[in-house]
Amino acid sequence: MLDAHLARMLSSSRQCRCCGGTFAQLLSLSCDRPDIVPGDLEVQDNAAVFATDGDVLTDDFCRFGQLRFLRAVLAIPVADSRGEEFILGTWAGVSEDVFDEYLGLFELRETEAMGSCPAWLSNQIPPESGGPLACMLHMRPEGQYPELQVSEVNSDLARMQELGVGLEELLGFLYAYGHDLASLVYDA
Ligand SMILES: [Zn+2]
Repeated sequence: MLDAHLARMLSSSRQCRCCGGTFAQLLSLSCDRPDIVPGDLEVQDNAAVFATDGDVLTDDFCRFGQLRFLRAVLAIPVADSRGEEFILGTWAGVSEDVFDEYLGLFELRETEAMGSCPAWLSNQIPPESGGPLACMLHMRPEGQYPELQVSEVNSDLARMQELGVGLEELLGFLYAYGHDLASLVYDA
């Protein structure tokens, strides 16, 4: 059953004072780089990953020293909703072999053929939660971002993925990502 308060927030025109996003829009948040990658490494077009062997950050790829990352999503079901999910755009740390294979299949949109592989969640979710967490990275069809499933079963995040998060926990997430909770929860 859809929690009445949640239903109001999802259809609400109330906006976050910090960014102007509505509650429904904020159900999708994204990290523009793995936590370990410094802010001064500039985001480039995907073509840059093919053009250099050195450190590079693009919309979908990151090569940083010996480390390799792929853009991925992590979905957390919202409890008591009609299948709503909180979607975090995040980064998966993968082996060099996986990275190279993904790169080779990416433009053909055939990465799904890789199936699933072990990966590390490379952003702390929520912020300051420790990590990196061991995950499985599941490839998806038609150029969709691969999806992370946390495999460390004792972690809070694994529990959230398994059981879903309630409205309060979800609001806590948004607050942790710097959004103005009061403007979303209370009428302006
Ligand atoms: Zn905001």
